[in-house]
Amino acid sequence: MRAGGGEIRRSGQVKEVTSLSNPIVKDIRALAMKKFRDQQNAFLAEGLKLVIEALDLGWRVRTMILAKSALGNRTVEATAARVFAAGGLVLEASEKLMASIARRDNPQMVAGVFEQRWMPLGKVSPLRGDVWVALDRVRDPGNLGTIIRTVDAVGAKGVILVGDCTDPFGIETVRATMGSVFAVPVVKTTQEDFLAWRAGFAGLVAGTHLKGAVDYRSVDFEGKPVLLLMGNEQQGLPETLAAACDRLLRIPQAGRADSLNLAVATGVMLYEIRRPALTLEKDG
Ligand code: SAM
Repeated sequence: MRAGGGEIRRSGQVKEVTSLSNPIVKDIRALAMKKFRDQQNAFLAEGLKLVIEALDLGWRVRTMILAKSALGNRTVEATAARVFAAGGLVLEASEKLMASIARRDNPQMVAGVFEQRWMPLGKVSPLRGDVWVALDRVRDPGNLGTIIRTVDAVGAKGVILVGDCTDPFGIETVRATMGSVFAVPVVKTTQEDFLAWRAGFAGLVAGTHLKGAVDYRSVDFEGKPVLLLMGNEQQGLPETLAAACDRLLRIPQAGRADSLNLAVATGVMLYEIRRPALTLEKDG
């Protein structure tokens, strides 16, 4: 893999950073906080695979940071050259500095800073067969990241965040998406705007509720757009959102657990809704 070291360094495309007090490093470290992510309209994605994925999907890159030890790796150097060509900054940092940027031990050797991308609610007009997931006040970054990854895996179209939700561009969420954050459109909206949009939605709005009277396996989801509505981890769906659903579905349970984890319940529902569309032949 190693090409004898540092072609991009020799070509002057990479700038070395050594100190935590460097203003660029400070800005990147600040992306751990939502306030600064919002201010900079940016976020951090870790790992070479994610950076390549983002570039392939046309996300705007601001900066790529690579560990000294990654210099000379052909794929890393080719990716850095793409970032440079796209107008991004390429930084070389010590592994200690990488760890402090990622705020963890054993950091990835490569990370990228990308511009955030949101889809406006008005642009969501699902067609026959399309599936969207709406999440009411999802709070846990791991849940949101896992749901975005599952939405990607089943070929659903996107995620609508309703009300005060955790940030899809937070570092833990991005980690949990395993790269799907770059493939799945995300919308954020208020409950009020969501309800106004829902009034013009002609498909099936399937809510999930622990008091739902309908077994989720008894519904025909085919031939129409489907909006799957999932409730908050602690409180479930509020009355206003439950009343906006065409059906309130329940996943049967047998043991002592009160409910399923939100991401698990979303996965179960998505696999049922998308069952006819998913075959091993279509895989990969
Ligand atoms: N204490 C909450 C309640 O009373 O609704 C539990 C919420 S549960 C952890 C989070 C969300 O996952 C629920 O709002 C619902 O959307 C979904 N969910 C979890 N288990 C479910 C089940 N057995 N049937 C239907 N939906 C379920």
